[in-house]
Amino acid sequence: MDINSTSLDADVGSTHNFKPALVLNADYRPLSYFPLSLWSWQDTIKATVLKRVDILAEYDELVRSPSIEIRIPSVVVLKEYVKPQKNIVFTRFNLFLRDGFSCQYCGQGGELTFDHVIPRSRGGITSWENVVSACSRCNLKKGAKTLAQVGFKLDKIPRKPDPEELKNLGRKFPPNFLHKSWLDFLYWDAELEE
Ligand SMILES: [Zn+2]
Repeated sequence: MDINSTSLDADVGSTHNFKPALVLNADYRPLSYFPLSLWSWQDTIKATVLKRVDILAEYDELVRSPSIEIRIPSVVVLKEYVKPQKNIVFTRFNLFLRDGFSCQYCGQGGELTFDHVIPRSRGGITSWENVVSACSRCNLKKGAKTLAQVGFKLDKIPRKPDPEELKNLGRKFPPNFLHKSWLDFLYWDAELEE
């Protein structure tokens, strides 16, 4: 069956590109929370036709090809369990997520930079233990000084987060768009743990 997206005629008007499906792992939990695991409707339909996923919920809109007619899935679950990544990569994004997207000196959110707690000029290295999220004001104020010199204090000792920790943090940052069919899969487990 030819399921390449150009052969599909989507009956979804101008918004047809924005019909993503929430992708759940085989344990019915989102593959990732932040960014939320979403597939375009084209990828979702391909995976459906290839029988890699089961459909749990659908949009009202249909896509048609000469051989199939199918409602665009809004929630799918993988048939095979994907093991979550064990090693957390040291990236800007993961660092900001560890710090809850807030400056570790004054608590402000918004535009963030990262700051070496022990300045590089004093031998501080770029690592989970020595880098924190900081707003540009605090970053500027701190410059190449030590915490004591500028009177800054850290509430949390910086360290490498474990995967479960990051996953839980990610749940606090829902995307701008949430389809109603996703809510059951996003929040029921979060609320029970609180
Ligand atoms: Zn700050």
